Amino acid sequence: MDQRSATLAWTNATNAVSPAQLDALSERVATAGTETIDVSAPAMDEPLGSIPACSEADVEGAVRRARQARSAWTTRSVADRAAVIDRFADLVLERRTMLLDLLQLETGKARRTAAEELLDVPLNCSYYRSIGPEAVASEKRRGALPGATSARVSYDPVGVVGLISPWNYPLALAVADAIPALIAGNAVVLKPDEKTPFVALALATLFAEAGGPKGVFEVVTGEGDVVGPALIDHIDHIAFTGSTETGRAVAERAGHNLIDCSLELGGNNPLVVLDDADVETAARGVLQACFSNAGQLCLAAERIYVDESLYEPFRDAFVDATRGLTVGTDLDYESDVGSLIDGAQLNRVEDHVAEAIETGATVLAGGQRRPDVGPFCYEPTVLADVDPDATVACEETFGPVVSLTPVPDEAAAIEAANDSPYGLNASVWTGSRDRGRRVADRIESGTVCVNDGYIAGWAAVDGPMGGVGDSGLGRRHGPEGIARYLEPRLIGTSRVGPLGVPSGAGSASKWLFEGMFRALGAGRRLRQWVR
Ligand code: NAD
Repeated sequence: MDQRSATLAWTNATNAVSPAQLDALSERVATAGTETIDVSAPAMDEPLGSIPACSEADVEGAVRRARQARSAWTTRSVADRAAVIDRFADLVLERRTMLLDLLQLETGKARRTAAEELLDVPLNCSYYRSIGPEAVASEKRRGALPGATSARVSYDPVGVVGLISPWNYPLALAVADAIPALIAGNAVVLKPDEKTPFVALALATLFAEAGGPKGVFEVVTGEGDVVGPALIDHIDHIAFTGSTETGRAVAERAGHNLIDCSLELGGNNPLVVLDDADVETAARGVLQACFSNAGQLCLAAERIYVDESLYEPFRDAFVDATRGLTVGTDLDYESDVGSLIDGAQLNRVEDHVAEAIETGATVLAGGQRRPDVGPFCYEPTVLADVDPDATVACEETFGPVVSLTPVPDEAAAIEAANDSPYGLNASVWTGSRDRGRRVADRIESGTVCVNDGYIAGWAAVDGPMGGVGDSGLGRRHGPEGIARYLEPRLIGTSRVGPLGVPSGAGSASKWLFEGMFRALGAGRRLRQWVR
């Protein structure tokens, strides 16, 4: 390993990550087999390390260990569990250089995108630490017969939560879903994408260092179509983030197993620039909305609709700003846009752009791969005159490509924005926040940001985040993000002995039921009269 590393460019780029460290992370995964999967650094297309290709039996073993460890974790107080999470957040901040380097090496993303991603961890930890005790506290509900009976609901952890995460935000997306599950008293088994497993393994190591008991945060690595289904067959809730296509398969399997699932899927997010928007501010802000993480962001805008009264000035300002973006792969803060994850993603982007051009689109900026910068780098690209039926307009490209379309007015912008089976994130730019919120109310999307691309929504961790339509089911963040990992249980108690009409009451039961019907009817009339 050391001999090989001497020839690798990535080892010269970082002092914080070594091949030996990656080998140690890989060894954390318990496997009975010897098969491995190679992981490479997209920025250079060089080998980074390898991870076990876990079998179904390995996954079963991981869930068994998690289930055993979970009993002791659940019986700890919420404050105790939250204290571990707090130390974990501190460690993530302390070890940020190592995590940022690792994240960049695994994904090829720009440093600033990696830093944005890392900020998400302490945000989520602090938030769920603060609402955790209230979320899991039992509560009184209205009894069946006020005074005679009482009702109490308790919120128990569901058990072992399975997390399946994608490669685009391997740090934030693992943690955003793991933290509330752990605070609620569950154990988790995380299956990271096979292209980006090391950050997930580093997080599990930091959790253990923070005092997390062995087995409570397990990581299984391997091929998605082997490890994913095996995981869903053994856990109690599956929180999946990934493509709509895989999400459907996950939902089917969860349905068969009668377990609950939350699905954070793809999008084809619209962005609307209204006629009262400040052109310069919008052009600068929209850059972030489209090109963060080289557009490999589920919340990124891919379709921009601009009121025709300011289409030309907006187009010119936006195209200028796009051309000014720096594409780079260094482990520093200099570049705006990094690499795509691999050759398949680069081909997908190129195919979408080529088809758009064939069907009439004009390239206003970008449109070229940049092998001089990195093997999978692609320029931030702005298209105009895109055929509404072109793939780039209808499907998620998941790359640094956006189309610009003029629209006659606000109503047409809303109609165009809603013309999609997806509904993950949308964005509205306007000089009036009230108008922005009114327009936002009419856009069919799980999140809509006004005068911002996605951060105002994503970083509001107290608010639920998720998609409608083909973009998913369920929500992460907010009280909803922890409620999905809790099983509500009702305990009803009678203070007056057994309820109901006693058997053997014979014809007297008719009068008892009649009395109840009349009392209920009178109560309803009284309520209507009081209203
Ligand atoms: P993907 O669906 O191919 O893979 C996601 C995860 O599922 C990976 O860990 C993969 O190994 C695993 N997997 C693959 N086959 C599986 C199977 N049969 N059963 C269970 N798991 C399986 O997605 P991707 O292409 O890697 O990720 C990009 C997609 O994720 C985009 O569509 C993007 O929009 C979406 N995404 C959504 C959100 C969100 O919050 N809504 C966030 C990030 C990414």
